Amino acid sequence: MTSTELRAEDIRWDLTDLCSGADEARAEWTALVERAQELASRYRGRIASLDGTAFRTLLDETDELEQELSRLQVYSYLRLSMAATEVEANDLATFSRDRAAEIENALVFLGLEWIALDDDRAEELLASAEVAPYEHKLRVEREEKPYVLTEAEEQALNARRPTVSAWQALHDRHVSTLEVPFDAGEGVQPHTISQLLSYLYRPDRDIRLRAVTALYEGLAPRTDVLAAAYDALVGDRLSIDRLRGYANPMQPTNMNNELDDETVEAMMAATEEAHPIARKWLQAKAGLLGLDKLELADQYAPIGEARAFNWPEAVEIVDSSFTRFAPRLAEIFRSCIEAGHVDVLPRPGKAAGAYCTSVSKTILPYVLMNYTERLRDVSTLAHEFGHATHNVLALEQQTWRSHRTGIPMAEVPSTFAQALADDYLLQNETDPGTRAALAADRLENAFAAIFRQTVLARFEQRAYALRSDGRSLAAERLNELWVDENGKYYGDALVMPEGYAYGWSYIPHFIHVRFYTYAYSFAQLVALLLYRRYRQDAEAFAPKYLALLGAGGSASPADLVAPFGLDLRSIETWREAFAELDALREDADTLASQAAQ
Ligand SMILES: [Zn+2]
Repeated sequence: MTSTELRAEDIRWDLTDLCSGADEARAEWTALVERAQELASRYRGRIASLDGTAFRTLLDETDELEQELSRLQVYSYLRLSMAATEVEANDLATFSRDRAAEIENALVFLGLEWIALDDDRAEELLASAEVAPYEHKLRVEREEKPYVLTEAEEQALNARRPTVSAWQALHDRHVSTLEVPFDAGEGVQPHTISQLLSYLYRPDRDIRLRAVTALYEGLAPRTDVLAAAYDALVGDRLSIDRLRGYANPMQPTNMNNELDDETVEAMMAATEEAHPIARKWLQAKAGLLGLDKLELADQYAPIGEARAFNWPEAVEIVDSSFTRFAPRLAEIFRSCIEAGHVDVLPRPGKAAGAYCTSVSKTILPYVLMNYTERLRDVSTLAHEFGHATHNVLALEQQTWRSHRTGIPMAEVPSTFAQALADDYLLQNETDPGTRAALAADRLENAFAAIFRQTVLARFEQRAYALRSDGRSLAAERLNELWVDENGKYYGDALVMPEGYAYGWSYIPHFIHVRFYTYAYSFAQLVALLLYRRYRQDAEAFAPKYLALLGAGGSASPADLVAPFGLDLRSIETWREAFAELDALREDADTLASQAAQ
């Protein structure tokens, strides 16, 4: 049976490629812990004395062990995704977490001893031909070396972790327990923040405006405590940065992402230069909605009315758009469906959203969907298979350790795959409402990822600067910063309501991973640049792009995109991405006006 003949309700995960059952998984976990401890007993304290061949043997052994670990972890994670409240799945998840921690502890010596080597000894090993498949990741690990403190100091810092997490937990709880009384048409009911935010995508303007007002009224009494949690975390991070010797508060994130400070600044500066692109769209959108000026609540109001897409249609769109670009990608897409590695429909107890998870060099990735026949679900399917094809090609060519990229590059193939499917759809769809909705959605998603996430990163930079100047991050000060940075983006193209000053207060990234958000801008912009190269010369582009996917995380982002003639440190490169974005804006404008007639 081919993938298009399968009915959506029959396409469910078959987990037998991972493990045959919970009892089997427990036995395998126990054996794997022993294997890790045995490996550690053979190598602990010996890394400095290994030659290239012996070091390679160790790296291969751990690479295999980590794939076994991944297989068992994915098994237990997917069981939980299928049935969040099932006792057996929860027991197995707890058991798995504990065993995974034991394995991690057993193998922690490896990273520590590698970083502890002096430079000459490390270079000697890195120069050996046998170590080549691991070289890049090993070098990246050693870049941390100047910022690592003594063992006793690191232990003391680790011991503070629960206190730091307590601030994060306080913030999370304050946000997640917020319930605001709101009438969405069925009488007044308590609403969470995400429920209120979901009304911003409704066609009914009254409900959008009221949802925004209710959200900020609900947040207002909580902002003092939310600011106190943020202030404590920023203060803590800054004092540890000083101990470690980081030059600026963004540096740890940039190093993790393998991007230099210059690259990130060039990207953010080009983004700010391009604000007029967004404002032109917001002004056009006001016209389309019959308004003089947009309010914040109108920003994501729907444009055009999209038709429904059944599952076989979605499969056909992804299959055909991938085939047209590179048949190998479509082959991977179909083989994942046929292997039972895709779970399509929502069901009670099944996890929400969508994701793709890689397993190992010998097992295809698994994809979770919650397909409800909306246009957006088609894009999501393409997105997840952008990840899946990346995983498969990278694992074909790289070691396990080298296959995975950092967050900014990881979202490039998924965004690119979405663009392939969107373009295919725009060329083949005849319904004007669907075409308008697709073009507007695509543009507004790009705006949200590029412009808004950069506003967030700038807000963070200024908050860290104030705090390191000895000023506290009180709610009022954060309100001012927030309004100021958002004002630079929206200009006079949109009216921000007074309550929007509290917009900073519920954003989890600020609390959990500083400067996380620019990775979204990076991925969107690099995907736009690659798409531009593709449109310029499709034939030359596709093989180079497959090579990029196959390279996985074996090189830095700058080196990965260099074959496309992209210099990420140059602001000119990023300006080119905005030329592409402006073309998308024009398309959206044209299609939306046509649909409105
Ligand atoms: Zn993704």
